[in-house]
This record gives sequence, structure tokens and C-alpha cells, in this order.
Amino acid sequence: MDLYFDNAATTRLSDEALEAYIKTEREFFANPSSVHSEGIRAKKELERIRGSIADAMHIPSSSLFFTSGATESIASVFSSLLFQEPGRVIISRIEHEAVASWLPILKRYGWDTVTLKAKGGIVDPEELEELLTPDTKLVAVMAVNNVTGAVEDIKALVNVVRSYEKKNGRRIFFFSDSVQALGKIDYDITELGIDGASFSAHKINGPRGIGMLYLRSPESFRPLAPAGGQEKGKRGGTENLPAIAALEKAVLMWTGNRESENRRIGEINRYIRNNLSSLGLEILSPENASPYIISFVSPLPSEVYVRMLSDKGIAASSGSACSNNAKGEGEKILLGMGIRSSKARNAVRISFSGSTDMESAEALIKAVKEIGNG
Ligand code: PLP
Repeated sequence: MDLYFDNAATTRLSDEALEAYIKTEREFFANPSSVHSEGIRAKKELERIRGSIADAMHIPSSSLFFTSGATESIASVFSSLLFQEPGRVIISRIEHEAVASWLPILKRYGWDTVTLKAKGGIVDPEELEELLTPDTKLVAVMAVNNVTGAVEDIKALVNVVRSYEKKNGRRIFFFSDSVQALGKIDYDITELGIDGASFSAHKINGPRGIGMLYLRSPESFRPLAPAGGQEKGKRGGTENLPAIAALEKAVLMWTGNRESENRRIGEINRYIRNNLSSLGLEILSPENASPYIISFVSPLPSEVYVRMLSDKGIAASSGSACSNNAKGEGEKILLGMGIRSSKARNAVRISFSGSTDMESAEALIKAVKEIGNG
């Protein structure tokens, strides 16, 4: 199998998560909404898991909702705006398409949509302060960028919003897409004071198609489609209990005492950064980036370079394309941070997980040396 350096795209399902999936599918097959005893057992298990995940994330279980992934969690928040009188929405220029793709939709419905620059990958709280208006209803800035790993100062951004609210007397919803943050950097939702956040299981060795939405004050949240009233009316649809059980294993693996593991990944990151730099390759990830992501400028168009790495048994990703179906998404993010398009087109992303070790890092550097300038 390839040496896998594409963990920001998706991670391998852990054995524990897979076992939990199978066990729960077998033992709790009933619909948690059914009133017979099997249904009640399934519902109990669902609530046990919700409590366990909420404890691990230091949040009340009443603030946690299961969805089909981060894209749906984000859509739930942004589509709920369509119920309100249009106002201003502010997002950063480096948001994932799951967030950014909402801007043209909101615009069409009369919303005033503005974007925050992210020079060097980092959003400036002072710029946010300047963009806030009395009719601002939502601000969205991701916790960790998926292309560069840039860690945003969410606390400072939230503080700017809260101070403005005090002067203005109206609430502003602060949303933070936290898919690449959970377990990978110091991240505590309550401490950050955000109103909403999205998470995805498959970025932390859980299965695809399951994620979470955090809502600090769910009472005031009105989803566009409550459907069958599951998840306290915030997300309709039969709960995917086996996937939720696997998600629990993933969250437990990535929370708790992560310091030594994150330090180990940090050392691997430093080794790769130093070697790439000494080969004359420019690193695009800021110094404070998540240890799990490095983007650099390769000497060739990124798709070509990624294919050459693949020929050498290394799975990486084109920082400019990000994914095959959203070509140019990564490039948009890099341009959003002020990087020239000639550089952005050559960007390559390598990303790590718990299974990344120094040996694979050495193999990666060896491959980079062999490829040279193509
Ligand atoms: N937000 C970020 C930052 C991501 O990296 C991703 C995954 O690509 C998503 C959102 C979408 O997550 P999901 O695949 O769970 O919908």
C-alpha cells in the first residue's frame, strides 16, 4: 500500500471504530424512534454515546447533534439563515467549499455577503471589527485550514464579535468549521465561546457519512428541514446508530491526552519542513500551523507532482485542486491568503494521522529528492 500522506482528505477507519460499527449494527438494529423495547434500547444507546462524546469534548450533551458529515452540519446552519430577514454574513476567504458555496446562494436571497482576507493564512481580528455592521447576523471562520493547516485565532475573533454585540445590542452567530481541529490542536469549544461548529468522523479515523453539529443555544436554532423531528427537531432522519458508535471510538481516540502524540507528529512535521526548505522548496503553511498539515510549492504543476509521488508509492494531494470534483478549490484558498497563482498552481499538501511515523517521513523526503525538479 502507498505511504499515505492524504489524511486531511480522509483517514483510515480504525479497527476499534469498525468493530463498534459492526457490534452496534448487530446489537442495536432497531430504530431509536420506535416505542418497542428494541427501539428503546437503541435510543438509550444513542443517548449514552451522545453523553460520552459530549464529555470528551467538554460540552453539554444537549448541544450535540449527529449529522451525515460536516457538509450537512454547515448546510444546516447556513440554510437556517434563509428563514431570517436578510442581513450581513461575513466569512473568511479560506473557508472550505462546504461553507464558501453558501455565499452565492445567500446573495441571491438578498444577503450582503463579505469576505475576510487571510494574509499569510491568518484572519485578522481588526479587519473583522471593521466589517461588522448592525445588521451582521453570522460570522464564519474555520478553526484550522484544510490546505495549509493555519490555525486561526478564534478566541480573538469571537471577542471582537462579542464586544460589538454589547455595543449594538444584537446577537451575532459565530460559526467555526472545526473539522481539521478536533484532537489535532489545542481546541476547547466552550473556552472559545463559539455558537456553532462542524465536525466530521472520517478525518479522525471514523467512518464516512457521519458528523456532528455543535449548537451552543439549540433552543433558538430553527433548521430548514426538521423532517421527522429526530435529534430534538434539529436534524430529521433516522439516526445512523452504528456509524455514531464508530464516531464515538474516533472521538475518544482523538481527545483526552493527545499532547505526547501531537508532539510526536510535530517532530515529524519539523523534520519534513526542514528537509523541504533545505531542498529550496517554499513552505506555504504558516509557522503556527497544525502539525498534521504541510503545504509546499513544488517545482511542477501540482497534479503532475502528485502523480510522480504516487508512482513512487506516496499518496499526497494537490494543494491547488484539493479534490478531483472541486478542482481549483484549494487554489482559491491559497489565492485567498494572498499567494500568487503561479505558486498556488504548484502547491502540494501532505497530511498526517496517528499512523504516520518517522520512517514514512524519511521515505517521503527520499522521493522528493529523487523527483528533484522533475
Ligand atoms: N470542512 C473542512 C475544513 C474539510 O476539510 C472538510 C472535508 O473535506 C469538510 C468541511 C467536509 O466534511 P465532510 O466530508 O464530513 O462533509
